[in-house]
Amino acid sequence: MVRIKGQVQAYQWGGQEFIPELLGTINENLQPQAEYWLGAHPSARALTLADRIPIDDLLSTRGAPPLQFLLKILDVNDMLSIQAHPNKSQAKEGFARENALGIALDAKYRNYKDASDKPELMLALSEFWLLHGFRQAEEIAELLAGHDCLAPLVECIQEQGLADAFAFALDFAAKEVQTMQHALAGDLYETKTSFAKDTPEFWVQRWLQNNPHVKNGILTLFFLNLVKLEPGMAVYQPAGLLHAYLEGQNVELMANSDNVLRAGLTPKHIDVNELLRTCTIAPSHPQDFVINPQMLANGEIRFITPFTDFELAELCPAPGGNTTWRSTTPEILFCYEGSATLSTGGSHRLDLKRGESLLLLPGADVAMHAGTSGARCFKARNLP
Ligand SMILES: [Zn+2]
Repeated sequence: MVRIKGQVQAYQWGGQEFIPELLGTINENLQPQAEYWLGAHPSARALTLADRIPIDDLLSTRGAPPLQFLLKILDVNDMLSIQAHPNKSQAKEGFARENALGIALDAKYRNYKDASDKPELMLALSEFWLLHGFRQAEEIAELLAGHDCLAPLVECIQEQGLADAFAFALDFAAKEVQTMQHALAGDLYETKTSFAKDTPEFWVQRWLQNNPHVKNGILTLFFLNLVKLEPGMAVYQPAGLLHAYLEGQNVELMANSDNVLRAGLTPKHIDVNELLRTCTIAPSHPQDFVINPQMLANGEIRFITPFTDFELAELCPAPGGNTTWRSTTPEILFCYEGSATLSTGGSHRLDLKRGESLLLLPGADVAMHAGTSGARCFKARNLP
């Protein structure tokens, strides 16, 4: 049981207050603080608090297996790019291909930063809005038909189907697409009409208010399921499923990877061909990906997904309550609310409070005793 410290990522879409407040730090320069990473990804490794040893080095010197996950806390203030993540073989092949082309690992136009797939799951900490998979073609046509200027896209989806229409919406060099984007932006940006949050128009407006010069991708907002999660709800995104986080705070758990293929709504590198090659262009139902939490006898709540490498769980002992478990694989524990005292046999005890985290080595019998206001901790672990 070792205290660790993760790393903050200052991506532009992040908020300024949530993560500093959570971690008890001061955001002096009012930088956006988008993500807090707890893991061993080479671009931002968590360190032991006392000796500043990267946690993957610590695990290997103790003969423990490497982490198969990356745990994150996100504060989504401005929408993220529409994206999908590759599967295992696509990631392996893409990483090797870009290496062979001599593209530097930190190059802005690099798609594959590692050779791993990146399945992800998220648990909402606030009301959380996201785009998740494609709507039914008829539903998309109906939404698009609400804007006369989008008639070419309506015609395309009705005559050629979803895949062709989506590729058309992403053909940013085409005159017709530029005309549609421009007209839609004009309609929605200049109008005083306000739209409900569960309409694509609301999010097109929001995007244009914050990014008036980036129109590429706004048409795709009509193609995807718009989902609102209540706090405590969890959902997962398998490889190839198109998605975008729109607003809110969450806990995210994913494979130890940073492989993202983007389809616009970002000033970052986009590679439409690679995205179309890897993403699944077929309608899906978000409710099929909502995770039903399961409670164990010790009160632990597990968020079980089809992913075989890692798992997220939540521990919420009541004020003064206790819970115990045995760590069989490396685990990271993050305290989100309240405080607790952790002990692993003998006299080894640690106090954990909001914003603090621990690495647990395999083979520990862990006892957790909640403080006077209880505790809410997230636990990420390798699946054996
Ligand atoms: Zn993602």
